[in-house]
Amino acid sequence: MSKQMQIVNVDFVKQMNGALVYRLIDQHGPISRIQVSEMSGLAAASVTKITRNLLRFGLIKEVAQQQSTGGRRAISIVAERNKFVNLLIRLGRTTVTVAAMDLATNVLFKQKYQLKTEQSLQQLEFYLIELIEQSLSAVQRSDCKVMACGITVPGFVDQKNNTIRFMPQLNLQKPWKLAEQIQQKIQIPVFIGHDVRALALAEFYFGKTQATSDSLLLRIHRGVAAGIILNKQLFSGSKNNLGEIGHTQVDPLGKPCKCGNFGCLETIVSNQAIEDSVRQLLQQGHQSQWLSEQNCDLDTICLAVNNGDPLMVELFQKIGRYIGQVLAVCINVLNPEKIILSGKITQAQKVLFPAIERALQAMALQDFVNDTTLEASELEHDDIIGAFALIKRALWSGELLVQLLED
Ligand SMILES: [Zn+2]
Repeated sequence: MSKQMQIVNVDFVKQMNGALVYRLIDQHGPISRIQVSEMSGLAAASVTKITRNLLRFGLIKEVAQQQSTGGRRAISIVAERNKFVNLLIRLGRTTVTVAAMDLATNVLFKQKYQLKTEQSLQQLEFYLIELIEQSLSAVQRSDCKVMACGITVPGFVDQKNNTIRFMPQLNLQKPWKLAEQIQQKIQIPVFIGHDVRALALAEFYFGKTQATSDSLLLRIHRGVAAGIILNKQLFSGSKNNLGEIGHTQVDPLGKPCKCGNFGCLETIVSNQAIEDSVRQLLQQGHQSQWLSEQNCDLDTICLAVNNGDPLMVELFQKIGRYIGQVLAVCINVLNPEKIILSGKITQAQKVLFPAIERALQAMALQDFVNDTTLEASELEHDDIIGAFALIKRALWSGELLVQLLED
């Protein structure tokens, strides 16, 4: 027993050291082996051994740097970003997006498909695998390797078992082993996660929360949910799923919500809810110079807000107040350094953000509010970048690296 434990520990330490070295090279490259040794605290001989292994698999490469003081050209190493491709899938309620992205976040292709409304789980699974196989043959070139597949869904994911426990449009009788099915077919590691939680991770790796330790991303789209980063880790807890702040009741006399309650934040501020409210206001006879019942999609609504349309400014001040009311509780609980708002609604941030900030000032602890900044996400490819973040996390933690090096 103790011998077995020892073996496991040695493997684990090797995995962690390998991941640490790769991460330092990825984050700080071009970097010399000596610098990696200094930053990691690992012996120079260990760094040499690990980098030899990473070089052998093409995960890093040597580049000649400027002349060092002794006149000899120092060799530095960088992560190889263009020769590895990742397959990314965003399975939505009515559509599926399939994309390929290299490690430098260049999108090689992206395609969105409409899902059939009447199909069994098996049919859907079959269709997804077919799409993945088609995409694989499109990206497989001799000079690049397909590394992993990342999938995000707007449902509850069991991270430990890599299964989906709940999806809004599907009636799942038991956990859906989609990742396992795909992995068996295409023989590459598959990582699955909740779309908003994965987006918070992407914001942390590539976006505006990179330099922070604690942050919250509020995604407003079809639904409203949050992803939380605490101590530089995506916060998940033992039950895996959290951050469903869109289902906080803000208006007890409000509209019914899909969760069964009434007047949840989502029933007021989701993209659809805003468009419905505007249409209703116009039907009741409210006047807008910019909008009509036929022309009131969210982009046009945001344009009207930015042009100072009094009706829309009034509406967005109300929306901001409700968002602020829920975020105030989040601030008091988490005391984050940054709150990032993601979604089309941020196009109207000129009016929306001051309204949210006024609510935060009035409803949350002053010290905490003063320490928290509110910003709009500027992440590109917000539909698929979360799936890539899941792969990046697995690469940096050693989970994926160990699978690649074993191959
Ligand atoms: Zn609800």
